[in-house]
Formats: sequence, C-alpha cells, structure tokens
Amino acid sequence: MKKLKLRPKIELFRWSLYNDGLPSNDFLVRRKLSNLSGCPRGCMEDENEWHIAGNCSKLHEVIFLLNKWGFQNPIFNNLQDCFEGLKKLVGKNSIIAKMYCTSTWLVWKSRCKLIHDGIEDSNNFFASYVVSTSTFSNFFNQGPENWDTNQRELFCSWYPPPTGWIKLNVDASILSNNVAGFGGVIRDEKGIFLLAFGINIMHWDIAQIELMAILHLKYIFHDWMFEAQGIIIEGDNFNIINILQSAMKNWKVSKRIEEKFSFLLDFNQVMFSFSKICCNKLADICANLALKSLFTWENIGSQDIPPPFLFCLKEECDSLGLL
Ligand SMILES: [Zn+2]
Repeated sequence: MKKLKLRPKIELFRWSLYNDGLPSNDFLVRRKLSNLSGCPRGCMEDENEWHIAGNCSKLHEVIFLLNKWGFQNPIFNNLQDCFEGLKKLVGKNSIIAKMYCTSTWLVWKSRCKLIHDGIEDSNNFFASYVVSTSTFSNFFNQGPENWDTNQRELFCSWYPPPTGWIKLNVDASILSNNVAGFGGVIRDEKGIFLLAFGINIMHWDIAQIELMAILHLKYIFHDWMFEAQGIIIEGDNFNIINILQSAMKNWKVSKRIEEKFSFLLDFNQVMFSFSKICCNKLADICANLALKSLFTWENIGSQDIPPPFLFCLKEECDSLGLL
C-alpha cells in the first residue's frame, strides 16, 4: 500500500480498515456503544470491514460508474479476496488500486456526512473526484490483460471520458508511397461530437505521425478545451502514449518539459490512454479521410462530413447506452 503513495488521509483510512479501527456500526455494537449494526444506507447488511471495503451498495455504484468510463475496477467477493486482489494490482495496475482505495475512502467519508447532515454527494461527484485524484501516472491501461472476466472484453467500443472531461482519439495511416494521414476526434462524456481534424503529409514513420496527431491539438485550441475538467488523449500506439506519459511524469517531478509538449500544461488535467484498435475506429476513419484531403470540422451539421464518419459516431454513441 505504501507503494501506491496514497494521500495521508486515505492511507490512514486503509490502515484503520486493516486493523479494525473504523468506528463502523458493527464496531460500535461490539463495544456495546450502540445496538444498530446495519449500514446506515439501508444495505440490509452489517456495516463491518467487509461492507466498507467492498460490499456497500454505494461503493458498487461508484465503481460501476468508473467502469462505465472505461476503467476496470474490480468487484471482490469477500474481505480476504479484496485485500489480496488489491495487493496483486499494486505495481501491475497501480492506478486502479489507487482508484479503488480512493473510492472506498470517499464512500466512507460520505457515510459520515450522511449520519451527521443527512445528505450525501452524488455518485458522479465521487467518480469524477476519484479520476482527478488518481492521475498520478497520467495513464490508465485499457488493455484486458489484468482482469480475466470483464465486460470490456466482450464489448469492444469507444469509452467516454468522465463527466466534465473531453476525450481526443487520434490515429495515423500510411500508404505505400509514403503519403500519410493523421486525424483526431474530440467528444464529451455523452459521446457528443465536438471537433474532428485530418491532415496529410509525406512521412514513413507511423509512430511519429501519431505523435503529430496529438501535437496538432495546439493548432486547434478552443476555450472549451480549457474549461473542461480535463482531457483524455487516446491512441492505439503504445510507445507514443508511453512517451507522453513520461513527459508529464517528468514535469510533475522536475517541472521541466520539452517545448513541444508544453502546450499540454494549459489543460486543467491531462491523461493518456492506450486503446485497442477496435475502440479507436472513429479516429481511424479521420486518418484515412485525411489521406485524400485536409479537414477541420467543428459542427456535426457540416456538409463535408461523409456518411461513414457519421455512422460510426452514431454507432459508438448508441453503444454507450449498452455499457
Ligand atoms: Zn452499505
């Protein structure tokens, strides 16, 4: 748990949880300070360590929302499973472990608020907060390798960003004669179209072209991009996503960043995400359209937008309802 570098308050909470030190209803009954051991949220279950660590309905709702946004938080079966499962995640997928710990802490904090003030914050608030505070590595892995059973593996489509965030998907395409295209599309949490672009150049290195697609952001700046709570930049080139992730990590440590990446600091928050090709279809369409001509679309009603793009946009938007 130390390795996760949790905030001191969250670390203290975890420590209390492991050592049966939280003043839960079950705890108070065992110490004969109360005779109501149930969860104050009406979960019809004793509020004990397991309930707080992994079984409260409120925690499940927050995790469900996070997973709807494309994260892969686990649901555990019992306390031991939970502790061991988290231990396994540390190092391998620390951001998820950190998210899980932050979620349980927030849900506990909110439960105390419920008891004292009679109200709780919304699940949306919780989940957005969890994402904002777990961006220590500016990266979350969308690959299926960490969890063997997950809906994501069965259901392969674009995943929306958290509420209040925007997401840029980028892709590159190259022809045998070195004509290359790159493109990107920005959408919000509901899958609503905000902007798309496509550029062509002569180039031979697909990774470099994908990087250009991301750097192209600085030529299409709009106020709404900075007003968003954050931006997730998603591509299917693992190396490029890694390079950007390291650049942001270095910035956090040394406050130094390569000139070409410095525009990223203008956003409220930036995260990089690696996606499977099948989850990056719309950006792929942009990159292929760019081979023929340059474009910037800022309005979905634009006459220039071809039907395949619209069809894919609609399909991915519709599929959000199925998540
Ligand atoms: Zn509960």
